[in-house]
Amino acid sequence: MEQEGAVQDFPHKIDILIVGAGVAGLSAASDLRQSGRTVLLVDKGRGPGGRLASRRIGGATFDHGAQFLTARDPRFVASVDRWRTIGVVEEWFRSSDEGPGSHPRWRGKPTMNEIARHLARDVPVLLAKRVVSLRRDPDGWVAHLETGETFRAGAALLTPPVPQSLAILEAGGSALPPKEKARLDSVEYERCLAVLGVLDGPARIPPPGGLAPAEGPIAWIADNQKKGVSAAPAVTIHATAAFSLEHWDRDRKDCGRELLRAAEVCLGSAVTEYQVHGWRYSKPVRVEESPCLILSESPPLVIAGDAFAGPRVEGAALSGWAAADALKQMNRFANR
Ligand SMILES: Cc1cc2nc3c(=O)[nH]c(=O)nc-3n(C[C@H](O)[C@H](O)[C@H](O)COP(=O)(O)OP(=O)(O)OC[C@H]3O[C@@H](n4cnc5c(N)ncnc54)[C@H](O)[C@@H]3O)c2cc1C
Repeated sequence: MEQEGAVQDFPHKIDILIVGAGVAGLSAASDLRQSGRTVLLVDKGRGPGGRLASRRIGGATFDHGAQFLTARDPRFVASVDRWRTIGVVEEWFRSSDEGPGSHPRWRGKPTMNEIARHLARDVPVLLAKRVVSLRRDPDGWVAHLETGETFRAGAALLTPPVPQSLAILEAGGSALPPKEKARLDSVEYERCLAVLGVLDGPARIPPPGGLAPAEGPIAWIADNQKKGVSAAPAVTIHATAAFSLEHWDRDRKDCGRELLRAAEVCLGSAVTEYQVHGWRYSKPVRVEESPCLILSESPPLVIAGDAFAGPRVEGAALSGWAAADALKQMNRFANR
């Protein structure tokens, strides 16, 4: 791939352009890099991580996307174990109702976003750059960024939520095989309204600091102070998918007030400040049959993300690795 434009410190010859530096994109990038491919990740966010997100309000810190991760697949279990050894994650809690075989819920240390930062430490990531289109050309793929920059690559991997990936392809006039297009067009995500509240004293959420109410508009409430994320009292509230959908277009401050009222019994202290964030693509409703989808073999184009291997951090990592394997395989045949 040749870089056009004035971006410095990134490789000039790139084999694979990866859109999205969430867990899927980062996992694929680090795998491809280890196998000798030159990669470049481009993400519209100010930092890597996507839905593995943390945020500060004054002295308070919040995990406001994924709250913890679980590991079942042996390869992901091994990754999490390495992260534990070097202090990137630690066990937050185990569910008591799962019996002796219960698996740990891991939290990033100090925040969930630390896991993404760790994954991004030795892969080149262009941040705060939105990819607007991806166009096929004789040598591979050409990505156009909102900034006007253009990148050319032999192969491409798309990891944003599926509707966002489809919009990038459509803007580039890249027609998909009809069967794949119909399938991808039907991928839907739950929405999630997240309230980040700063308190003037400790929250009343019992240890370990996270609970999922059985009824009402709240799906999850976490005490970031008890969890070890925040020095100051700070709660994250995730509304249910039903509440989030119904109230999506309503004034966000009003929604936040309603959710904080519903959480009153868990708060125990006054809210001094709050913000509301809307996750338009929170979790895929349905998971695809294969862990990634090859949309073109020549030039190689793969789509991946949690919609393909499970609506969790683990699913995103497995999908990223599957995409890396598929790209390596196609690249091997292309070189013959
Ligand atoms: C509220 C919430 C709670 C959750 N709780 C949990 C949990 O407790 N445990 C768990 O395991 N999972 C949880 N999840 C799910 C988990 O966060 C996701 O499954 C996982 O992080 C998805 O990773 P990904 O790489 O597939 O996608 P993403 O993290 O969405 O990454 C995609 C990236 O693409 C970028 N992007 C999009 N469009 C463009 C563009 N045009 N140009 C450039 N970049 C672009 C985005 O900025 C983003 O960084 C939760 C998610 C949410 C939202």
